[in-house]
Amino acid sequence: MKKFLQKFMFTFVFMSTAVCLLCTGCSRQPEEYRSTGTAMGTIISQTVYVSAGEEAARKITEEVTSCIDGLEQDCLSWRLEDSEIYRINLSAGSGQQEALSGFLEEVLEQCKKVYAASDGAFDFTIGNVARLWNIDSWAGMQFSGSAVTGGQQSAAAEKSGLEFTLPTQEQLAAVLSCVGADKCSIEAGFISLPEGMQLDLGAVGKGIALDEIRKLLAQHSEVTGAVISVGGSILTYGSKPDGSMWKVGIVDPFDTAQSLGTLSLPGGFCVSTSGDYERYVEVDGVRYHHILDPHTGMPADSDVKSVTIVCREDSQTAAGGLFSDALSTACFVLGMERGMELAEAFGAEVLFVDKEGVISMTEGMEQYFSASRQ
Ligand code: AMP
Ligand code: MG
Repeated sequence: MKKFLQKFMFTFVFMSTAVCLLCTGCSRQPEEYRSTGTAMGTIISQTVYVSAGEEAARKITEEVTSCIDGLEQDCLSWRLEDSEIYRINLSAGSGQQEALSGFLEEVLEQCKKVYAASDGAFDFTIGNVARLWNIDSWAGMQFSGSAVTGGQQSAAAEKSGLEFTLPTQEQLAAVLSCVGADKCSIEAGFISLPEGMQLDLGAVGKGIALDEIRKLLAQHSEVTGAVISVGGSILTYGSKPDGSMWKVGIVDPFDTAQSLGTLSLPGGFCVSTSGDYERYVEVDGVRYHHILDPHTGMPADSDVKSVTIVCREDSQTAAGGLFSDALSTACFVLGMERGMELAEAFGAEVLFVDKEGVISMTEGMEQYFSASRQ
């Protein structure tokens, strides 16, 4: 009898402890966890609120990073031989139809919408023009010394060992004849690129990553909120434990160490910015930046210094990130007036900083934005 009682007591104490532990787990307050890393050749900053402890939070941030890496390696990269874009680019001019994954077909369909609505200001077939400018090798490089005209290399560049050659008008004309998303056929899971055409999803890659991250976070009920930056493109997700809005800073394009202002957003939004300060080369005091006008092949010369787009993560298309990223590039090329119309056509909010530093925005943006200086 004594033995039975001992056994009963032990089982009772064990079970109560287990139930208590479980309950504590259920009612655990979400805790903040931060991480910074790199993926897709850019910096990934994450702040996540997770109700299952630090170890679970760490695992989630790792999953986010490998999701971005996977996206780049398997699909979006034009450099990596195992990616879908690389394989498709290789087939250009072969006359063959290349198989498209359902994922990439969907992405290209959304991109075509922005291409059409922007009259080609956003064009994902711009690959060979971007290669000619060698954009991916720039990181705010400055060249000075001898005047550099098309086809020549600056003395400073030669001295420093860095190679940069401005494309000639002839070279640009040759590659431009192969640009135009309407010239590539996408149909029933297949794509065919004409000779000389190369796809480049650089203008939407970070936004697509935000859309994938949102899907991933939605699979983790223990994540109650997050704000995640993929190289400056930002996703807000869920809510903060204190119920306050997510704060997203906008860089001052005239002084990138400073903030122009802050957006206060609920969860479920994507923010993308395109600016001439992000990537450029300077040759003899002239700045050549990375946002190209697909009609001229030259860096876009609009009235815009930087443009920020805010898109709601639409659960139907699940492409708020793709749209915010594509639209920021398109609006930079189109300039303020036409850009404003384009953004509104997609139900997006937009904030422009022009070359004089004047800020203009849609009415909807006014409710989110507060300037650092009045
Ligand atoms: P973003 O910084 O999002 O505006 O994207 C710029 C990147 O997209 C560049 O580095 C190019 O690879 C590519 N790109 C440049 N101009 C365009 C354009 N007009 N349409 C589509 N992609 C572009
Ligand atoms: Mg973009």
